[in-house]
Amino acid sequence: MIQADDRPAATDAVSRFIGDVSGGKAGPTLVVIGGLHANEPAGIEAAQRVHKRIGDGDVGLHAGRLVSLRGNLRALGVEASTPWLRERYIDEDLNRAFLLEPGPAHNGSAEQHERDELSGHLKSIKDCTSGGVFVLDLHTVSSESPAFIALEDSLPARRFAARFPLPKILGLEEELQGLLIDYATNALGCVSCIFEAGLHDDPRSADVHEAIMLLALAALGMSGRSPQTLSGESALEVVSQAAAGRQDHFYDVRQRVEIGAMPFEMRLGAAAFMPVAAERTVLASEDGRELKASANGLLFLPNRQPSPRVGDDAFFVIARVGSIWLTLSAWLRRRRAMHAILPMLFPGVRRRKDEPHTIVVAPEYAAILRRELLHLFGYRLVRWIHTPYMPWHARVRGVVLGVVRSVFGVLRFALRGGEQAALPNERPTDWIARRHALDLLPSDVHDLGETSHDEG
Ligand SMILES: [Zn+2]
Repeated sequence: MIQADDRPAATDAVSRFIGDVSGGKAGPTLVVIGGLHANEPAGIEAAQRVHKRIGDGDVGLHAGRLVSLRGNLRALGVEASTPWLRERYIDEDLNRAFLLEPGPAHNGSAEQHERDELSGHLKSIKDCTSGGVFVLDLHTVSSESPAFIALEDSLPARRFAARFPLPKILGLEEELQGLLIDYATNALGCVSCIFEAGLHDDPRSADVHEAIMLLALAALGMSGRSPQTLSGESALEVVSQAAAGRQDHFYDVRQRVEIGAMPFEMRLGAAAFMPVAAERTVLASEDGRELKASANGLLFLPNRQPSPRVGDDAFFVIARVGSIWLTLSAWLRRRRAMHAILPMLFPGVRRRKDEPHTIVVAPEYAAILRRELLHLFGYRLVRWIHTPYMPWHARVRGVVLGVVRSVFGVLRFALRGGEQAALPNERPTDWIARRHALDLLPSDVHDLGETSHDEG
């Protein structure tokens, strides 16, 4: 076994690497990131614990490689120029800096340097293995919430997430640009998840993160089954308890509301996972105005940071996704023929020029081609705008209008070789949806071991 690099680097108080250790046999690589938000040190503590236990022989690492990295080093205050800050970030949120499309030019912010260093490490870790790479990004929250896992809705990520007794949140990457997990998934082809363990300063959060790391090692066949935390509890039990009874549920993000003005304050009773009604439930106030949900569902990630900033997330609304929907969508998206005939099945859908796995969707049909439907077929929206909340009667009107429009469309375009041929150019208002990158990889790249705790 190669020993962990647990020593501080010569120049910094602490190095980027919390540990880097390999088991005797070849296997997958698990990359753990703690402190991407520097006010969330629980993930770092957990990773230190797990590496120490591996070094002590208390946890056996039989196969594969475990690498744990510190996230926002500069904001963690480990450099001489920034003493222990424990600020969430210095200039900008690091977990919004990993843009897939080329963003604004490098402005030299602390977080852009952090992003460049971290993505360099991730890339070289990925490059030196032929096996699957799995990334866990460990976080904590500012307001009471069940622990949860957030992932892009690809089939390999679903299979991995099903090994954790936690609520699973899909679609965060459609609302938030520049997530580290989005970069690791789509630029590097890693299965990547965010784990939120509990409150920032609750000592239990580090236990939950430790348990999650141990479950991940077990799920990947890198260490023994039925792991126990340092305190001797079953890791499965610790995580199940933190899930507060929601461990079998999948949710899809329906709305993100951003803080637009100061002062901002969440309502006193606004608690994570409480039901909210569109246009009715008042959840927060900003600059004296009321902020309401504009989607039906459950409140998610209400912002109770002590010093929120304009542009930060105020809150999200999520909705439960049933198991029939999940099974159907897994079946549908594996059908190659289905993807081929999709543009013929639906009005307003065309294949994007020179991109076989990307479709262009006319927003006029948004009442029919809702975001949920595209998700069902395994497409992720990469460019789109939120359709305003539609009560059921408005939606019925939209569907009727869409059907009438499509009948006329078929007649109109028939003589010109169909819609695809007649409208080769996309408009700036068109939505762009793309198949999940991991769904397109051979299915054995992210093979999991035999152990299974919960098939969710
Ligand atoms: Zn965080």
